[in-house]
Amino acid sequence: MGADTNGPSGPGPHMQGLWLDDEPRLVTDLPVPTPAAGEALVRVRLAGVCGTDLAVLKGYVPFCGVMGHEFVGEIAAATAAPGRVGERVVGEINVVCGDCAACRAGRSSHCERREVVGLRGRNGVFAEYVTLPLANLHRVPNAVPDEAAVFTEPLAAALQILRQVPVGPDQRVLVVGAGRLGQLIARVLRLTGCELAVVARREPQRALLAAADIPWRSEGDVPTAGFDIVIEASGAPGGLALARRALRPLGTLVLKSTYAGEVAMDLARCVVDEITVVGSRCGPFAPALRLLAGDLVDPTPLIDDRFALADAEAALRRAAEPGVLKVLIDCGDFHRG
Ligand SMILES: [Zn+2]
Ligand SMILES: [Zn+2]
Repeated sequence: MGADTNGPSGPGPHMQGLWLDDEPRLVTDLPVPTPAAGEALVRVRLAGVCGTDLAVLKGYVPFCGVMGHEFVGEIAAATAAPGRVGERVVGEINVVCGDCAACRAGRSSHCERREVVGLRGRNGVFAEYVTLPLANLHRVPNAVPDEAAVFTEPLAAALQILRQVPVGPDQRVLVVGAGRLGQLIARVLRLTGCELAVVARREPQRALLAAADIPWRSEGDVPTAGFDIVIEASGAPGGLALARRALRPLGTLVLKSTYAGEVAMDLARCVVDEITVVGSRCGPFAPALRLLAGDLVDPTPLIDDRFALADAEAALRRAAEPGVLKVLIDCGDFHRG
């Protein structure tokens, strides 16, 4: 799909990238993309593998093109804003039309014609270059190293929960899942002063939480109906069942994982308990960058491994190993030598 995802063997200068067709494979003859009006050409420095990328490989959405959406890079060319060339940036992943009913109503993250970097109709960031509208690109403060800036997108997704659900010190909040996203969500929620607990299965996940002063629980140690707000971030059907059980009547269940396929939930029970279910996706970049710049959240302990772009296929395999948190792909080493 995606007329805008230029495939291998195009004209002009070439670059490396991880191309997904039936299988992901490293391709060395992708055309360096040409920015459209209002867009910039961004040289990718560092990219992150996300649970959503792994879900795409399992068929969560049909996608053909360059994979990846979490990145930090620098503007290499921008006809409409030459002053921004050289700027270090992160990028919002929804590319919107500005003209549909949703966009006109101020709900542009739900643009009816949106493309999503590396996920829907638009090439992603596991490549040397990517193009994005200038409006999507946020300057990274000098205080934020690439290794932290690359977490801006998932950190923004974690922050989206606070936009949707008021969380404060008088609430008991449970996060189910201590993987890539669960760890970031927990770090954001901790800032609210809420009574927080995180369900963590694995010892390294528990150690990371403990180091961030966040209490963890084992699955068997979660009280039924013991929480006002429960956030499902495990991506597993068992996690959803646990989240549902942990939520008190009139509580709020936040769904933060993207599932490949369908999952079951007892909806009659939801009616009787009058719970609120909130789906939660992308979030605001500016506050995410502010949390990173102010050192209020340090995501770098989540980095488990780092690969060169030439080894991007191995990076995906590594990220899919059980218990592995963030795997980074160095896309910039071609430009530095
Ligand atoms: Zn992501
Ligand atoms: Zn639109």
